[in-house]
Amino acid sequence: MKLLLATGNQNKLIEFRRMFPENQILSTKDVGVNLDVEETGTTFAENAAIKARTLFEVTGIPTIADDSGIVVDALNGFPGVYSARYAPTEICCEKLLEDMKGIPKERRTARYVCSIHFVRSETEEYCVEGTCEGSVGFGKAGENGFGYDSIFYIGQRSTAQMTDEEKDAISHRGQAFRKLQKLFKELGIDD
Ligand code: IMP
Repeated sequence: MKLLLATGNQNKLIEFRRMFPENQILSTKDVGVNLDVEETGTTFAENAAIKARTLFEVTGIPTIADDSGIVVDALNGFPGVYSARYAPTEICCEKLLEDMKGIPKERRTARYVCSIHFVRSETEEYCVEGTCEGSVGFGKAGENGFGYDSIFYIGQRSTAQMTDEEKDAISHRGQAFRKLQKLFKELGIDD
């Protein structure tokens, strides 16, 4: 089946193609659409739905979109849906560490969240979500990953100290992917 991925992010495209090799995952570039969708939702699920619905309306192709970020309890859930806009990616870890200065270890709990929305037709839509519990450390560690990985800890290790396989096995995105794979099987979407 042909599925459109509503993102301009090349890394997301690579990951979706890796997870769903039996389907043809099209990029917005493949279908000649250049849309900058404004993420006006207040939840990850709302933003994923906005992106998927907008691209489906324009193209008529079954569309998937994801939205993800880090939710910090001591900051009342911030940066949350603003994770990408909170600070330039090169300094997002430093900014979060600064904003959490003075917050003790036991109050540094946080989670990664990933929502994926799938619009199959005008009348059929699905949403799956994955979460990954952890905490924000006091400094950076590790070289892998991206975004907040070097300061997001699960146990003693940051997610930037994990291999891709280790992170995929427990991450918010890995969990959401597996839920989507299960949904596709149930819907018979596998070729
Ligand atoms: P969006 O889903 O493209 O709107 O952006 C999500 C933002 O959340 C990214 O730019 C990262 O800053 C952050 N984020 C989401 N998932 C991860 C992850 O697995 N590791 C580190 N940062 C992440």
